[in-house]
Amino acid sequence: MKYYLAILGGGPAGYTAAEIASKAGKDVILFEQNALGGTCLNVGCIPTKTLLYSAKQYYNAAHADKYGVKAENVSFDYVKIQQRKTKVVRKLVAGIRAKLNNEHCTVINGAASVVSRTDDVVTIACGEEQYEAENLLICTGSTNFVPPIPGIKDNEHVWDSTTALDAKELPASIVIVGGGVIGMEFATLYHELGVPVTVIEAMPTILPNIDQDIVAILREKYEKSGIKILTNTKVVSIEGGKLKVESGEIIEADKILVSVGRRANLQGLEALTDLEYNRGAIVVDDFMKTNLPNVYAAGDVTGKIMLAHVASRQAEVAVGRMLKQIPLQRIAYNAIPSVVYTNPEIACVGITEKDFDAEVRTMPMTFSGRFVAENEGENGLCKMLIDKKSHSVLGVHMIGNPCSEFVAAASFAVRMGYTVDEFKQVVFPHPTVSEILKEIL
Ligand code: NAD
Repeated sequence: MKYYLAILGGGPAGYTAAEIASKAGKDVILFEQNALGGTCLNVGCIPTKTLLYSAKQYYNAAHADKYGVKAENVSFDYVKIQQRKTKVVRKLVAGIRAKLNNEHCTVINGAASVVSRTDDVVTIACGEEQYEAENLLICTGSTNFVPPIPGIKDNEHVWDSTTALDAKELPASIVIVGGGVIGMEFATLYHELGVPVTVIEAMPTILPNIDQDIVAILREKYEKSGIKILTNTKVVSIEGGKLKVESGEIIEADKILVSVGRRANLQGLEALTDLEYNRGAIVVDDFMKTNLPNVYAAGDVTGKIMLAHVASRQAEVAVGRMLKQIPLQRIAYNAIPSVVYTNPEIACVGITEKDFDAEVRTMPMTFSGRFVAENEGENGLCKMLIDKKSHSVLGVHMIGNPCSEFVAAASFAVRMGYTVDEFKQVVFPHPTVSEILKEIL
Protein backbone atom coordinates (compact mmCIF):
# COMPACT_ATOMS: atom_id res chain seq x y z
CA MET A 1 0.00 0.00 0.00
CA LYS A 2 1.23 3.48 -0.82
CA TYR A 3 0.27 6.05 1.84
CA TYR A 4 -0.47 9.67 1.01
CA LEU A 5 1.65 10.91 3.89
CA ALA A 6 4.37 9.44 6.09
CA ILE A 7 5.15 11.36 9.26
CA LEU A 8 8.33 10.92 11.30
CA GLY A 9 7.63 11.85 14.92
CA GLY A 10 4.46 11.92 17.00
CA GLY A 11 4.87 15.18 18.93
CA PRO A 12 2.58 18.24 18.57
CA ALA A 13 3.62 18.73 14.91
CA GLY A 14 3.35 15.05 13.94
CA TYR A 15 0.09 14.20 15.68
CA THR A 16 -1.59 17.43 14.52
CA ALA A 17 -0.64 16.71 10.90
CA ALA A 18 -1.77 13.06 11.19
CA GLU A 19 -5.12 14.09 12.61
CA ILE A 20 -5.84 16.74 9.97
CA ALA A 21 -4.69 14.71 6.95
CA SER A 22 -6.42 11.48 8.04
CA LYS A 23 -9.67 13.33 8.81
CA ALA A 24 -9.44 14.78 5.28
CA GLY A 25 -9.59 11.16 4.06
CA LYS A 26 -5.89 10.76 3.23
CA ASP A 27 -4.06 7.61 4.27
CA VAL A 28 -1.43 8.55 6.80
CA ILE A 29 1.29 6.52 8.53
CA LEU A 30 2.98 8.02 11.59
CA PHE A 31 6.17 6.64 13.17
CA GLU A 32 7.02 7.34 16.81
CA GLN A 33 9.87 5.63 18.65
CA ASN A 34 8.73 6.62 22.16
CA ALA A 35 5.29 7.62 23.41
CA LEU A 36 2.88 9.69 21.33
CA GLY A 37 2.90 13.34 22.36
CA GLY A 38 6.64 13.89 21.95
CA THR A 39 8.75 16.07 24.22
CA CYS A 40 5.88 18.41 25.10
CA LEU A 41 3.58 15.77 26.51
CA ASN A 42 6.08 13.29 27.92
CA VAL A 43 9.18 15.19 29.03
CA GLY A 44 8.42 18.88 28.53
CA CYS A 45 5.46 21.26 28.83
CA ILE A 46 2.93 18.97 30.52
CA PRO A 47 5.04 17.21 33.17
CA THR A 48 6.78 20.46 34.13
CA LYS A 49 3.51 22.34 34.46
CA THR A 50 2.05 19.49 36.53
CA LEU A 51 5.02 19.52 38.93
CA LEU A 52 4.99 23.33 39.03
CA TYR A 53 1.31 23.30 39.96
CA SER A 54 2.00 21.04 42.97
CA ALA A 55 4.92 23.26 43.97
CA LYS A 56 2.73 26.37 43.71
CA GLN A 57 -0.01 24.76 45.82
CA TYR A 58 2.52 23.93 48.53
CA TYR A 59 4.19 27.34 48.34
CA ASN A 60 0.87 29.21 48.49
CA ALA A 61 -0.29 27.11 51.45
CA ALA A 62 2.98 27.73 53.28
CA HIS A 63 2.62 31.50 52.64
CA ALA A 64 -1.15 31.66 53.20
CA ASP A 65 -0.88 33.93 56.23
CA LYS A 66 -0.60 36.98 53.99
CA TYR A 67 -4.21 36.27 52.95
CA GLY A 68 -5.31 35.83 56.55
CA VAL A 69 -5.30 32.04 56.33
CA LYS A 70 -3.54 29.91 58.93
CA ALA A 71 -2.05 26.67 57.62
CA GLU A 72 0.38 25.09 60.02
CA ASN A 73 2.89 22.31 59.37
CA VAL A 74 2.29 22.35 55.63
CA SER A 75 4.25 19.58 53.94
CA PHE A 76 4.36 17.66 50.67
CA ASP A 77 5.00 14.15 49.41
CA TYR A 78 7.28 14.25 46.35
CA VAL A 79 6.54 10.64 45.45
CA LYS A 80 2.84 11.49 45.26
CA ILE A 81 3.59 14.64 43.28
CA GLN A 82 5.53 12.52 40.78
CA GLN A 83 2.77 9.89 40.64
CA ARG A 84 0.22 12.55 39.79
CA LYS A 85 2.51 13.86 37.03
CA THR A 86 2.70 10.35 35.53
CA LYS A 87 -1.09 10.02 35.71
CA VAL A 88 -1.63 13.36 33.93
CA VAL A 89 0.85 12.47 31.17
CA ARG A 90 -0.72 9.01 30.66
CA LYS A 91 -4.20 10.50 30.40
CA LEU A 92 -3.15 13.04 27.77
CA VAL A 93 -1.13 10.50 25.75
CA ALA A 94 -4.23 8.28 25.67
CA GLY A 95 -6.18 11.30 24.40
CA ILE A 96 -3.75 11.70 21.47
CA ARG A 97 -4.00 7.98 20.70
CA ALA A 98 -7.79 8.27 20.63
CA LYS A 99 -7.62 11.27 18.26
CA LEU A 100 -5.55 9.25 15.79
CA ASN A 101 -7.78 6.21 16.00
CA ASN A 102 -9.47 6.38 12.61
CA GLU A 103 -9.49 4.19 9.49
CA HIS A 104 -7.08 6.45 7.58
CA CYS A 105 -4.39 6.68 10.26
CA THR A 106 -1.77 4.02 11.06
CA VAL A 107 0.57 4.56 14.01
CA ILE A 108 3.79 2.51 14.15
CA ASN A 109 5.78 2.39 17.37
CA GLY A 110 9.45 2.27 16.39
CA ALA A 111 12.45 4.21 15.14
CA ALA A 112 12.01 4.94 11.44
CA SER A 113 14.50 6.09 8.86
CA VAL A 114 14.29 7.19 5.26
CA VAL A 115 15.59 4.58 2.80
CA SER A 116 15.16 6.44 -0.48
CA ARG A 117 13.21 9.24 -2.14
CA THR A 118 12.05 10.17 -5.64
CA ASP A 119 9.56 12.90 -6.55
CA ASP A 120 6.81 10.22 -6.52
CA VAL A 121 7.62 8.05 -3.56
CA VAL A 122 9.43 8.13 -0.25
CA THR A 123 10.44 4.78 1.26
CA ILE A 124 10.70 4.48 5.04
CA ALA A 125 12.14 1.58 7.04
CA CYS A 126 11.00 0.72 10.56
CA GLY A 127 12.10 -2.55 12.12
CA GLU A 128 12.00 -5.26 9.44
CA GLU A 129 9.32 -3.51 7.37
CA GLN A 130 9.42 -0.90 4.63
CA TYR A 131 6.63 1.56 3.85
CA GLU A 132 5.94 3.85 0.89
CA ALA A 133 4.30 7.28 0.81
CA GLU A 134 3.77 10.09 -1.68
CA ASN A 135 4.78 12.77 0.83
CA LEU A 136 7.01 12.94 3.87
CA LEU A 137 6.60 15.26 6.86
CA ILE A 138 9.60 15.37 9.21
CA CYS A 139 8.60 16.19 12.80
CA THR A 140 11.50 14.60 14.67
CA GLY A 141 11.79 17.41 17.23
CA SER A 142 14.84 18.26 19.30
CA THR A 143 16.92 17.02 22.23
CA ASN A 144 18.76 18.72 25.06
CA PHE A 145 22.09 20.17 23.97
CA VAL A 146 25.11 19.03 25.98
CA PRO A 147 27.80 21.74 25.92
CA PRO A 148 31.43 20.64 25.66
CA ILE A 149 32.28 21.30 29.33
CA PRO A 150 34.97 18.93 30.71
CA GLY A 151 33.43 16.50 33.24
CA ILE A 152 29.84 16.93 32.08
CA LYS A 153 29.48 13.51 30.44
CA ASP A 154 28.80 10.30 32.41
CA ASN A 155 28.55 12.31 35.62
CA GLU A 156 25.80 11.10 37.98
CA HIS A 157 25.50 14.60 39.46
CA VAL A 158 24.61 16.11 36.09
CA TRP A 159 20.96 16.20 35.03
CA ASP A 160 19.14 17.42 31.96
CA SER A 161 15.47 18.37 32.02
CA THR A 162 14.39 14.78 31.30
CA THR A 163 16.35 13.24 34.18
CA ALA A 164 15.19 16.04 36.48
CA LEU A 165 11.55 15.34 35.61
CA ASP A 166 11.96 11.62 36.29
CA ALA A 167 13.92 11.88 39.55
CA LYS A 168 12.12 10.10 42.37
CA GLU A 169 13.61 12.38 45.01
CA LEU A 170 14.31 16.07 45.23
CA PRO A 171 17.98 17.06 45.16
CA ALA A 172 19.43 18.41 48.42
CA SER A 173 20.64 21.45 46.45
CA ILE A 174 20.88 22.29 42.77
CA VAL A 175 22.93 24.44 40.41
CA ILE A 176 21.20 25.21 37.14
CA VAL A 177 23.48 25.96 34.19
CA GLY A 178 21.55 28.17 31.73
CA GLY A 179 19.06 30.79 32.90
CA GLY A 180 16.75 30.42 29.89
CA VAL A 181 13.17 29.20 29.88
CA ILE A 182 13.86 25.66 31.08
CA GLY A 183 16.39 26.85 33.68
CA MET A 184 14.05 29.44 35.23
CA GLU A 185 11.06 27.09 35.29
CA PHE A 186 13.08 24.43 37.13
CA ALA A 187 14.52 27.12 39.42
CA THR A 188 10.90 27.96 40.32
CA LEU A 189 9.97 24.32 40.96
CA TYR A 190 12.92 23.54 43.23
CA HIS A 191 12.85 26.87 45.06
CA GLU A 192 9.14 26.56 45.88
CA LEU A 193 9.78 23.07 47.24
CA GLY A 194 12.54 24.38 49.50
CA VAL A 195 15.65 23.25 47.58
CA PRO A 196 18.56 25.77 47.59
CA VAL A 197 18.96 26.95 43.96
CA THR A 198 21.81 28.67 42.13
CA VAL A 199 21.38 29.73 38.49
CA ILE A 200 24.46 30.25 36.31
CA GLU A 201 23.92 32.19 33.09
CA ALA A 202 26.63 33.01 30.53
CA MET A 203 24.88 36.14 29.21
CA PRO A 204 24.59 39.43 31.15
CA THR A 205 20.97 38.56 32.01
CA ILE A 206 18.70 35.59 32.64
CA LEU A 207 15.99 35.08 29.99
CA PRO A 208 18.01 37.14 27.48
CA ASN A 209 15.26 37.02 24.83
CA ILE A 210 12.58 38.52 27.08
CA ASP A 211 11.88 42.24 27.68
CA GLN A 212 14.42 43.32 30.27
CA ASP A 213 12.04 45.44 32.41
CA ILE A 214 9.94 42.30 32.83
CA VAL A 215 12.99 40.16 33.63
CA ALA A 216 14.19 42.72 36.21
CA ILE A 217 10.99 42.26 38.24
CA LEU A 218 11.38 38.48 38.26
CA ARG A 219 15.06 38.64 39.14
CA GLU A 220 14.51 41.04 42.02
CA LYS A 221 11.78 38.83 43.50
CA TYR A 222 13.76 35.61 43.03
CA GLU A 223 16.96 37.03 44.51
CA LYS A 224 15.06 38.44 47.50
CA SER A 225 13.46 35.07 48.11
CA GLY A 226 16.84 33.34 48.15
CA ILE A 227 17.59 32.09 44.62
CA LYS A 228 21.23 32.83 43.80
CA ILE A 229 21.60 34.15 40.24
CA LEU A 230 25.04 34.51 38.69
CA THR A 231 25.02 36.19 35.27
CA ASN A 232 28.01 36.82 32.98
CA THR A 233 29.32 33.56 34.41
CA LYS A 234 30.85 30.76 32.37
CA VAL A 235 31.40 27.22 33.60
CA VAL A 236 34.88 25.93 32.77
CA SER A 237 34.72 22.42 34.22
CA ILE A 238 32.70 20.02 36.37
CA GLU A 239 34.04 17.36 38.71
CA GLY A 240 31.43 15.29 40.53
CA GLY A 241 29.05 17.84 42.03
CA LYS A 242 31.66 20.60 41.94
CA LEU A 243 31.46 23.17 39.23
CA LYS A 244 34.29 25.58 38.46
CA VAL A 245 33.49 28.96 36.91
CA GLU A 246 35.79 31.32 34.97
CA SER A 247 36.68 33.42 38.04
CA GLY A 248 38.07 30.23 39.66
CA GLU A 249 35.20 30.00 42.17
CA ILE A 250 33.99 26.47 42.93
CA ILE A 251 30.26 25.97 43.37
CA GLU A 252 29.10 22.69 44.86
CA ALA A 253 25.65 21.14 44.73
CA ASP A 254 23.95 17.77 45.00
CA LYS A 255 22.80 18.03 41.36
CA ILE A 256 23.73 20.16 38.36
CA LEU A 257 20.92 20.72 35.86
CA VAL A 258 22.16 21.69 32.41
CA SER A 259 19.62 23.64 30.32
CA VAL A 260 21.52 25.54 27.66
CA GLY A 261 19.24 25.02 24.67
CA ARG A 262 18.06 22.22 22.41
CA ARG A 263 19.20 20.92 19.02
CA ALA A 264 17.22 19.45 16.10
CA ASN A 265 16.99 15.64 15.85
CA LEU A 266 18.26 14.67 12.40
CA GLN A 267 18.79 10.92 12.81
CA GLY A 268 17.16 8.72 10.18
CA LEU A 269 17.34 11.37 7.47
CA GLU A 270 20.81 10.46 6.16
CA ALA A 271 19.40 9.07 2.88
CA LEU A 272 17.99 12.49 2.03
CA THR A 273 21.41 13.59 0.82
CA ASP A 274 20.11 16.71 -0.98
CA LEU A 275 18.04 18.00 1.94
CA GLU A 276 19.01 21.57 2.79
CA TYR A 277 20.06 22.45 6.36
CA ASN A 278 20.99 25.69 8.04
CA ARG A 279 22.86 25.70 11.36
CA GLY A 280 21.78 22.15 12.15
CA ALA A 281 18.08 22.57 11.31
CA ILE A 282 15.99 21.76 8.21
CA VAL A 283 15.35 24.74 5.93
CA VAL A 284 11.67 25.24 5.04
CA ASP A 285 9.71 27.84 3.09
CA ASP A 286 6.65 29.73 4.34
CA PHE A 287 4.54 26.59 3.83
CA MET A 288 6.93 24.23 5.64
CA LYS A 289 8.14 22.71 2.37
CA THR A 290 11.83 21.76 2.19
CA ASN A 291 13.94 22.10 -0.96
CA LEU A 292 12.78 18.56 -1.94
CA PRO A 293 9.39 18.59 -3.73
CA ASN A 294 7.50 16.04 -1.60
CA VAL A 295 9.30 16.57 1.71
CA TYR A 296 8.01 18.90 4.43
CA ALA A 297 9.18 19.60 7.99
CA ALA A 298 7.47 21.10 11.05
CA GLY A 299 8.31 21.73 14.70
CA ASP A 300 11.64 22.02 16.52
CA VAL A 301 13.49 20.23 13.69
CA THR A 302 13.08 23.40 11.60
CA GLY A 303 14.94 25.39 14.27
CA LYS A 304 12.49 28.31 14.02
CA ILE A 305 10.73 28.86 17.36
CA MET A 306 10.92 25.80 19.62
CA LEU A 307 7.41 25.93 21.06
CA ALA A 308 4.70 23.25 20.92
CA HIS A 309 2.02 25.68 19.71
CA VAL A 310 4.29 26.82 16.88
CA ALA A 311 4.89 23.18 15.93
CA SER A 312 1.19 22.39 15.69
CA ARG A 313 0.50 25.53 13.66
CA GLN A 314 3.38 24.65 11.32
CA ALA A 315 1.83 21.20 10.87
CA GLU A 316 -1.54 22.76 9.94
CA VAL A 317 0.17 24.94 7.35
CA ALA A 318 2.21 22.02 5.95
CA VAL A 319 -0.84 19.80 5.49
CA GLY A 320 -2.79 22.72 4.00
CA ARG A 321 0.00 23.16 1.43
CA MET A 322 0.10 19.43 0.64
CA LEU A 323 -3.66 19.35 0.13
CA LYS A 324 -3.39 22.53 -1.95
CA GLN A 325 -5.97 24.31 0.21
CA ILE A 326 -6.85 27.72 -1.23
CA PRO A 327 -6.00 30.27 -0.01
CA LEU A 328 -2.71 28.84 1.26
CA GLN A 329 -2.09 29.83 4.86
CA ARG A 330 1.09 31.26 6.31
CA ILE A 331 2.20 31.38 9.92
CA ALA A 332 1.89 34.76 11.61
CA TYR A 333 5.29 34.58 13.32
CA ASN A 334 4.80 38.20 14.46
CA ALA A 335 1.92 37.11 16.71
CA ILE A 336 3.22 33.96 18.43
CA PRO A 337 2.63 34.14 22.19
CA SER A 338 5.19 32.69 24.57
CA VAL A 339 4.97 32.01 28.28
CA VAL A 340 7.58 31.39 30.96
CA TYR A 341 5.97 29.48 33.84
CA THR A 342 7.83 31.17 36.64
CA ASN A 343 5.93 32.54 39.64
CA PRO A 344 4.88 35.18 38.68
CA GLU A 345 4.33 34.07 35.11
CA ILE A 346 5.74 35.95 32.14
CA ALA A 347 3.76 36.13 28.89
CA CYS A 348 4.76 37.94 25.72
CA VAL A 349 3.75 38.40 22.12
CA GLY A 350 5.15 40.40 19.24
CA ILE A 351 8.07 42.77 18.90
CA THR A 352 10.32 43.93 21.71
CA GLU A 353 11.73 47.43 22.22
CA LYS A 354 15.09 46.42 20.81
CA ASP A 355 13.46 45.23 17.54
CA PHE A 356 11.67 48.41 16.53
CA ASP A 357 11.26 52.10 17.36
CA ALA A 358 7.70 51.93 18.71
CA GLU A 359 5.67 53.96 21.19
CA VAL A 360 6.07 52.22 24.55
CA ARG A 361 3.36 52.26 27.19
CA THR A 362 3.82 50.63 30.58
CA MET A 363 1.41 50.04 33.41
CA PRO A 364 1.82 48.28 36.75
CA MET A 365 -0.42 45.22 37.09
CA THR A 366 -1.73 46.80 40.30
CA PHE A 367 -4.01 48.92 38.07
CA SER A 368 -6.12 45.76 37.86
CA GLY A 369 -8.40 45.32 40.89
CA ARG A 370 -8.41 41.56 40.56
CA PHE A 371 -4.59 41.50 40.49
CA VAL A 372 -4.46 43.46 43.77
CA ALA A 373 -7.07 41.18 45.35
CA GLU A 374 -5.19 37.99 44.49
CA ASN A 375 -1.50 38.92 44.47
CA GLU A 376 -0.68 40.25 47.92
CA GLY A 377 2.68 42.02 47.97
CA GLU A 378 3.40 41.25 44.31
CA ASN A 379 4.54 43.60 41.57
CA GLY A 380 3.62 43.06 37.97
CA LEU A 381 3.99 44.98 34.76
CA CYS A 382 2.28 45.26 31.40
CA LYS A 383 4.13 46.85 28.52
CA MET A 384 2.56 47.56 25.15
CA LEU A 385 4.39 48.54 21.97
CA ILE A 386 2.42 50.57 19.44
CA ASP A 387 3.32 51.55 15.89
CA LYS A 388 3.97 55.31 15.93
CA LYS A 389 2.36 55.84 12.50
CA SER A 390 -0.51 53.33 12.22
CA HIS A 391 -1.21 53.13 15.98
CA SER A 392 -1.53 49.35 15.68
CA VAL A 393 -0.56 47.10 18.56
CA LEU A 394 2.76 45.38 17.76
CA GLY A 395 3.76 43.75 21.03
CA VAL A 396 2.64 43.06 24.58
CA HIS A 397 4.91 41.90 27.42
CA MET A 398 3.63 41.04 30.86
CA ILE A 399 4.67 39.69 34.23
CA GLY A 400 2.04 38.88 36.85
CA ASN A 401 -0.30 35.96 37.50
CA PRO A 402 -2.21 34.70 35.57
CA CYS A 403 -1.02 36.52 32.43
CA SER A 404 -0.48 33.22 30.57
CA GLU A 405 -4.26 32.84 30.54
CA PHE A 406 -5.00 36.07 28.67
CA VAL A 407 -1.94 36.69 26.48
CA ALA A 408 -4.00 35.10 23.68
CA ALA A 409 -6.17 38.27 23.65
CA ALA A 410 -3.02 40.31 23.00
CA SER A 411 -1.92 37.82 20.30
CA PHE A 412 -5.29 38.22 18.64
CA ALA A 413 -4.89 42.02 18.57
CA VAL A 414 -1.38 41.75 17.12
CA ARG A 415 -2.43 39.07 14.61
CA MET A 416 -5.42 41.11 13.39
CA GLY A 417 -3.40 44.34 13.31
CA TYR A 418 -5.80 46.09 15.71
CA THR A 419 -5.18 49.77 16.25
CA VAL A 420 -5.43 51.15 19.76
CA ASP A 421 -8.92 52.51 18.97
CA GLU A 422 -10.09 49.12 17.63
CA PHE A 423 -8.70 47.21 20.60
CA LYS A 424 -10.45 49.69 22.93
CA GLN A 425 -13.81 48.52 21.59
CA VAL A 426 -13.23 44.98 22.93
CA VAL A 427 -15.05 44.43 26.22
CA PHE A 428 -13.07 42.62 28.93
CA PRO A 429 -14.88 40.98 31.85
CA HIS A 430 -14.63 42.76 35.20
CA PRO A 431 -12.95 42.07 37.52
CA THR A 432 -10.21 40.15 35.71
CA VAL A 433 -6.48 40.72 35.42
CA SER A 434 -6.98 40.78 31.62
CA GLU A 435 -8.46 44.28 32.02
CA ILE A 436 -4.89 45.53 32.20
CA LEU A 437 -4.87 45.21 28.40
CA LYS A 438 -7.72 47.71 28.26
CA GLU A 439 -6.36 50.02 30.96
CA ILE A 440 -3.11 50.49 29.07
CA LEU A 441 -4.81 51.53 25.79
P1 NAD B 1 17.04 28.76 26.03
O1 NAD B 1 17.68 29.10 24.74
O2 NAD B 1 15.74 29.36 26.40
O3 NAD B 1 18.05 29.15 27.23
C1 NAD B 1 19.35 28.66 27.32
C2 NAD B 1 20.14 29.64 28.17
O4 NAD B 1 21.40 29.07 28.46
C3 NAD B 1 20.39 30.97 27.49
O5 NAD B 1 20.00 32.00 28.35
C4 NAD B 1 21.89 30.96 27.22
O6 NAD B 1 22.47 32.23 27.24
C5 NAD B 1 22.41 30.08 28.35
N1 NAD B 1 23.66 29.39 28.10
C6 NAD B 1 24.08 28.81 26.95
N2 NAD B 1 25.28 28.20 27.15
C7 NAD B 1 25.62 28.40 28.46
C8 NAD B 1 26.71 27.99 29.28
N3 NAD B 1 27.70 27.23 28.81
N4 NAD B 1 26.71 28.39 30.58
C9 NAD B 1 25.70 29.14 31.08
N5 NAD B 1 24.64 29.54 30.35
C10 NAD B 1 24.60 29.17 29.06
O7 NAD B 1 17.01 27.16 26.07
P2 NAD B 1 16.31 26.19 27.12
O8 NAD B 1 15.92 26.90 28.36
O9 NAD B 1 17.25 25.03 27.23
O10 NAD B 1 14.99 25.76 26.36
C11 NAD B 1 15.07 25.05 25.10
C12 NAD B 1 13.89 25.36 24.23
O11 NAD B 1 12.70 24.84 24.80
C13 NAD B 1 13.70 26.84 24.03
O12 NAD B 1 13.49 27.12 22.68
C14 NAD B 1 12.49 27.16 24.84
O13 NAD B 1 11.72 28.23 24.31
C15 NAD B 1 11.71 25.84 24.82
N6 NAD B 1 10.91 25.76 26.05
C16 NAD B 1 9.79 26.51 26.15
C17 NAD B 1 9.07 26.50 27.32
C18 NAD B 1 7.82 27.33 27.44
O14 NAD B 1 7.28 27.73 26.41
N7 NAD B 1 7.35 27.64 28.64
C19 NAD B 1 9.49 25.76 28.41
C20 NAD B 1 10.66 25.03 28.29
C21 NAD B 1 11.35 25.03 27.10
